[in-house]
Amino acid sequence: MAEAGDDFSHGPGRVAIVTGSRATLQIQESILRMVAKPVADALFGSAVLRSLVEEMWMCMIEAGGVGIAAPQVGISWRLFIASARDLPSTVFINPQVELIGAADVAGEEGCLSIPGWRSGKVPRHDKVAVRYRDMDGAARTGVYEGIAARIIQHEFDHLNGRLFIDLDDSPDPDNPPWRRARMAMSEMEARLRKDAPSAT
Ligand SMILES: [Zn+2]
Repeated sequence: MAEAGDDFSHGPGRVAIVTGSRATLQIQESILRMVAKPVADALFGSAVLRSLVEEMWMCMIEAGGVGIAAPQVGISWRLFIASARDLPSTVFINPQVELIGAADVAGEEGCLSIPGWRSGKVPRHDKVAVRYRDMDGAARTGVYEGIAARIIQHEFDHLNGRLFIDLDDSPDPDNPPWRRARMAMSEMEARLRKDAPSAT
């Protein structure tokens, strides 16, 4: 059984689990650009995993979101939660997403980690098939379309350090939130170069 003191996360994430701070990390945090690690077998069915997922639900519900990924609460693990119409509340752990629908369908997205910026032009596939594990480690599958498929692709991208603003190929340069996002990106990338992370 994993304990909160085990080395499975970066510092800020561990604090989030322990304190229940319900803080959603913002775009300048470098963890949002990292490729997250798979959830270890020993964690399935553990209290640590359960409290992380609870933390994520609190965070998402308080912020009025429809999904949130573990890196957004400071934990660089491969899991996300989502809940919306046509998408019953689900935790997707170590997910694999297969893109099976029409590609490049433009749609609107925002992100709890990038407040104030929404885009109506984010290209996504219309349909996805997901293989994932539940909190007890059982293998599960699901097929999702439309908004549900969009949410899943958005959250899955978080596990690979990708944000929806990377996909909006025609942003409005006069839009202040976009300018702020670009500034935050430059700042973060400069820090990442300086830190030279040894993540594998
Ligand atoms: Zn997001």
